[in-house]
Amino acid sequence: MSTGLTLFDIETDLLNLMLCREAVLNDPDRSAVLEEGETRESELELIDRAIQERVSAEIAKVDGIAYYLREFEARENAADAELRRMCTRKVAWKTRRERLQEMVIAVMNATGKTRLEGRANTLKLVKNPPSVEIAQPELVPTEYKKLKVTMPYTLWNALWEACPKELREEMLAVRLGREDSEPMKSKITEALKQRVQCGGCAGSGRRYHGVDWNDCPDCAGTGKVNQGVPGCSLVRDKMRLVVE
Ligand SMILES: [Zn+2]
Repeated sequence: MSTGLTLFDIETDLLNLMLCREAVLNDPDRSAVLEEGETRESELELIDRAIQERVSAEIAKVDGIAYYLREFEARENAADAELRRMCTRKVAWKTRRERLQEMVIAVMNATGKTRLEGRANTLKLVKNPPSVEIAQPELVPTEYKKLKVTMPYTLWNALWEACPKELREEMLAVRLGREDSEPMKSKITEALKQRVQCGGCAGSGRRYHGVDWNDCPDCAGTGKVNQGVPGCSLVRDKMRLVVE
């Protein structure tokens, strides 16, 4: 999805500011060009303020911001396409190199030579270290295979409890070899939306306060509260930006 804009067409100062910020962040020799009393942080602060001001001014002109978002996305997609094209290219060159190598090896084998000297280069046949080739993976016994699985933490705990002591070290190694556990967001969301009986009024919605029965302050008289999940909360007012 291209907007038809080129690098020179779009208003460039916001983009320039962003590029400038990246340059300051990534320049290891920044201290050499800093003036007296300036630090990388103070420089970044200035740039960030300028970016903030530019965005604030642009945001009033909706079209400007929309242009930027579209243009950045178009470039992201173009870079992605280029990445895939270069990948294909790399594979093609690798294939050619390997084919040429095979031909050279075949010729050298046929002529019984293990070494060919050129003026500046030498071609040598060297024995590879032993390596395994697996022609029929389905025949490999399970003790030589590993499984990569993602499972709910509760299931892991159950397996852990049921696991014979002598295998626990191995299980721990599996566990540590993986990226650390990730929260299961959909399950947490479900739990956070669940309404459970209010503990403050045992679900009656009323609480005796001094001389009177009043609406329970914990549940506002509904008798129900949202179920909590430690460390988690449901964010309801987070916004998503859509450009149409
Ligand atoms: Zn209550």
